[in-house]
Amino acid sequence: MAPYAFAVVGFGFLSIFAHIILRGIQRKRDFLWYRQALSYRRLPLSRKRVLETYPFYEQLPLKNKKQFEHRVAAFIADKDFRNRYQGTVTDHQVVLISCVACQLSFGRRNYLYPMLNTVLLFPEAFMSPTNQVLHKGEFNPLAKVLAISWYDFKEGMDITNDNLHLGIHEFTHVMHFESDRSNDIDAVRFKKYTNKILRELMKPDVRSKLDQTQFFRDYAFTNQYEFMAVLSEYFFESNADFKSTFPLIYGHLTKALLFKEEWIMK
Ligand SMILES: [Zn+2]
Repeated sequence: MAPYAFAVVGFGFLSIFAHIILRGIQRKRDFLWYRQALSYRRLPLSRKRVLETYPFYEQLPLKNKKQFEHRVAAFIADKDFRNRYQGTVTDHQVVLISCVACQLSFGRRNYLYPMLNTVLLFPEAFMSPTNQVLHKGEFNPLAKVLAISWYDFKEGMDITNDNLHLGIHEFTHVMHFESDRSNDIDAVRFKKYTNKILRELMKPDVRSKLDQTQFFRDYAFTNQYEFMAVLSEYFFESNADFKSTFPLIYGHLTKALLFKEEWIMK
């Protein structure tokens, strides 16, 4: 064998060895040594046009833009989008909902929400069969269905500074439910940092500071799922304020999502 052939074989062995080592330590150290191996899926033009109106996508570095488009295309292919009543789901709706899902999961390797099969669209807030109360969104983990009021989804997205973002809220629920049931590296990390956040919440001084925060809705204290969902809305809508007011909780949520500083919208 020629010397360069030895080098190639040696490099191959070294790569496999490095891969095994990195796979082992990433769980302990809470990082992903790769998020995405290849990105090649492209959206058809009609959908790409919608993607190009999405502010988070617009401000991403080029490399991340390709990854994001790939992920949105993969998410669309993986999920079933339905209208609760007659009429088809438009490209506009499909792409924007998928964009929000992929924005929230952008730091993860597992970004596809395996606990979700169907996105069910209602034109506006709807009566839930479970408790006869008007809902803007509802996730049913058994049926793997996320029901969403399109009116409220759009409003949550369009008003960017009120800490209300239905899409982010509901997809955080899906991610949270998954973290209770899955052993996947991203799910385990999400769970670990959720627990750290909830432990913080037990501290009286932190709790009273949260109570006083005008950005924080009382609703957040309903249960741990609502708390994490509201926290996530806060993260995306008032990032700088969140970071300076609750640096420790902010740090935990950043780790839970593995969200990078450079992706945060200024
Ligand atoms: Zn909720």
